[in-house]
Amino acid sequence: MAASGNFPDNRQRVLDAVNLVKLVGNTVALKRRGNSYVGLCPFHNEKTPSFNVIESKGIFKCFGCNKGGNAIDFVMLRDRVDFLAALELLARESGIDLIRSPRSAQTATIKQQLLDANSAACRFFERTLADATIGQAAREYLYVKRGFDLETASRFRLGYASEAWEALARSSMMKPFPKDVLLQAGLVKPREQDQSVYDTFRERVIFPIRDEGGRVIAFGGRVMPGSDAPAKYLNSPETPLFSKSRCVFGIDLARQRIIETRTAVIVEGYTDVVMAHQFGCTNVVSVLGTALTEQHVQLLRRFADKIVLLFDADAAGDTAADRSVELFLSQPIEIEVATLPDGLDPDEVLLKQGKAGFESVISSAIPAVDFMWKRMTQQFKGATDTTNKAQAIDQFLSRLSGAKASGNIDELRWGQTLTRVAPLTGLTIQQLNRRFARPSQSNRPVVQSAGVGAPDSAVPKVDRQSGQERAERWVLSALFAEGALWGEFGHLLTVDDFQSARSTAVAAFVFGQLRGEGEVNIHDMLEVLTGESRDYALDVLAGDVAQADAKKLLTDGATFFQNERDRREQSRLTQNLRQTTTGESPSGESPVELLRKLQEQARRPDVRRGGGG
Ligand SMILES: [Zn+2]
Repeated sequence: MAASGNFPDNRQRVLDAVNLVKLVGNTVALKRRGNSYVGLCPFHNEKTPSFNVIESKGIFKCFGCNKGGNAIDFVMLRDRVDFLAALELLARESGIDLIRSPRSAQTATIKQQLLDANSAACRFFERTLADATIGQAAREYLYVKRGFDLETASRFRLGYASEAWEALARSSMMKPFPKDVLLQAGLVKPREQDQSVYDTFRERVIFPIRDEGGRVIAFGGRVMPGSDAPAKYLNSPETPLFSKSRCVFGIDLARQRIIETRTAVIVEGYTDVVMAHQFGCTNVVSVLGTALTEQHVQLLRRFADKIVLLFDADAAGDTAADRSVELFLSQPIEIEVATLPDGLDPDEVLLKQGKAGFESVISSAIPAVDFMWKRMTQQFKGATDTTNKAQAIDQFLSRLSGAKASGNIDELRWGQTLTRVAPLTGLTIQQLNRRFARPSQSNRPVVQSAGVGAPDSAVPKVDRQSGQERAERWVLSALFAEGALWGEFGHLLTVDDFQSARSTAVAAFVFGQLRGEGEVNIHDMLEVLTGESRDYALDVLAGDVAQADAKKLLTDGATFFQNERDRREQSRLTQNLRQTTTGESPSGESPVELLRKLQEQARRPDVRRGGGG
């Protein structure tokens, strides 16, 4: 959603104009229930409605699949489009003219020109492949040697670039495009000695690279057998349309099946993708280059809950394994790894064993963390031997903590990982926690966020924690319902009263806005917060609280926080007193003073904890 930063006014104007209940109502049958509307979630299969629209706040939230957000988010999810496309669609529907900076209008026309040039080039390459004489060798390679059929080739719009140096550059089909557009699209390259240009792709089979909407944004070329070109594969350079670290080959054709199966399979090359589709495995895509990036995952996440990486048996290096664990830890998506039988590539599996053979390889995929462990134990063969096993565990944990240190790790994710790692290594969660705990970290236990769906074994919940959670919710939902109460309660609340990372992030935002602007802009908040914190904020928002109840909830919440502060102070005093009697006096308070403070503490009215209702 980064692009929205340029259009804050547009976003607000569109959101103000849209009636979310009406918008959602077009595709979901909604029924009024209390302060919200409920219906069957359009984003996951369910029989009882858990999809809520809160009209007063302009947000929706599904308690089944956790999806939620504002009207723009809804359109993004419904139509599977990006932020700008959703914004534009809603603006059109509600008759709003978006404010465009001159620069963005210019960028838009450049992009359109590049798209037009690519689309013409794509037709040109297709035509060359079909040409009776020029395309013959390429057709033989594709249809006879590789075994592709015509129907698949035309679905992927495969083409051919002949060995002539200026076939594309001089073709009449490219006439409408100025030279600098062709240069910018990466279709041609400039000659050093004069002003002329020559074709980027020569003597290659062409695989057009399309975005999720099917628009041609770049090309990949594979050398013809016998060519003396140094690189087997050649991609278009980076252009305003195309970035290698973001594009997923085959996504336009795989999208539907990925949505249906919630699973995206990633293979290594274009030809593997095309062959998989030919055999009916149509949720298969590939990334360009070797490494799966966060941007790839973000694109795939829109359609999939799980990514299966298919590696060649020998090529699956440690780097790839580490990388997939890193991505698993930082991205809210399952990542599994499948390996091919020794010496086979996906192409061969499909041709020899068909769709069933390929699918059985995919279904043998294991979670990325297990895969990493498997590789580790293979390295330390005979892991039954105690020393070897200890060595394997050591290295595994250090790699895991390397992956953990690499990015923004979600605590819930980490907790889940530890429950997965424990049985592999034979260590308990507590032992693992101790090994990962670093002194620099806060004094909270590593596995702490006791969110919905947290594995029980990883989260030793005590009653006080759930009371804490409830109090945090009371305070936030009351402030969402009636921000004006900040005047009365603000001085009783601090961000430090919040314990989990996600609630702390929400409280910091909410308190900051109330202090600065006197009210909470929910849409700004949902824009700023990400991941778990955003989910949590939506969760609290959706538990819509009536304004009339807000004051009571704030009173109860603030009281709970006060009691917690007292309890912490009391245990600090007791601790100090104990140490003072053994001779040390860490806080500088005398035993008499400590005793007096403790007695004062004890005299305070004991306000009931938790409960609240
Ligand atoms: Zn749902």
